[in-house]
Amino acid sequence: MSLTWEEENRPIDLHIHTTASDGDKSPAACVDEAKRLGLAAIAITDHDTTAGNAEALARGRETGLEVVPGVEISVEHPPLTAHLLGYYPEPGSPALDAVLSGLREHRGERNPLILKRLAELGCPVSQEELAAEAGGGVVGRPHIAAVMVRKGYVRNLQDAFDRYLAKGAAAYVDRVRPSPEAAIHALLAARAVPVLAHPEAMGARSQEEVEALVARLAEAGLRGLEAYYHGYSPAQISACLALAGRHGLLVTGGTDYHGSKKPDIQMGRGPGGMHMPYRLLAELKKARERL
Ligand code: AMP
Ligand code: FE
Ligand code: FE
Ligand code: ZN
Repeated sequence: MSLTWEEENRPIDLHIHTTASDGDKSPAACVDEAKRLGLAAIAITDHDTTAGNAEALARGRETGLEVVPGVEISVEHPPLTAHLLGYYPEPGSPALDAVLSGLREHRGERNPLILKRLAELGCPVSQEELAAEAGGGVVGRPHIAAVMVRKGYVRNLQDAFDRYLAKGAAAYVDRVRPSPEAAIHALLAARAVPVLAHPEAMGARSQEEVEALVARLAEAGLRGLEAYYHGYSPAQISACLALAGRHGLLVTGGTDYHGSKKPDIQMGRGPGGMHMPYRLLAELKKARERL
């Protein structure tokens, strides 16, 4: 069934974080927010977990909003850290669950090391404070940053990253991540469509570096690129579209909404405040059917 022009152009957002990871709205509240904003569909893409998908899907059914289950996985491609989005993972896939639980276990080892460094730097944060901030979801650096803001060590989340938590900053601790191949194979085993998140925001020093990563990912089975992303300039979008074209990849769009943790990001507001159209999701669904 083909879509009308109006249907193809309804606004969507395919990159959203909830309290299951480092967003500060529950999955159900994200669905409600999307409804309020008049979006046609959203995808839940929490870091290293699919725990928020069921609640969002249920709320979507109640409210009549189309919800795409998903996940965002960090992978290692030195010197870059890339993020892979996976859309429509089948629940209970052993291969994907193994990758995700491995990532979460490593976080459990890494977070105390970050807290230790922060204490040495005169900014003590306790495990209890951190756990309370995360509220049961996957705990990451944004939660540490939020506690630091509350305790007055830093002005805001960005200040916490710039001075302490960003890669190369004083309290940064690296974490173990799977190879791109391992993550893509796990996503494909769960019948999830693997898409490279924010290709222009991976800290690449050159276009060649991005090109090499995308070639490697495409070889492993990548299906798409996130070409529309909060804050991208027209030149960055063009670069992503060209990159996708060269590697035969589809394109998606999302904001990386984190709720009020990242107040400059509004759900559904892509580059330049523009909407991202439903036809991107229509193509993604076709790719899912072909898996
Ligand atoms: P983690 O999962 O603990 O490695 O933290 C990664 C998350 O921290 C990302 O998804 C972003 O939400 C946030 N983040 C990472 N680097 C920065 C940065 N330089 N500035 C602001 N936020 C960042
Ligand atoms: Fe995040
Ligand atoms: Fe990301
Ligand atoms: Zn994200």
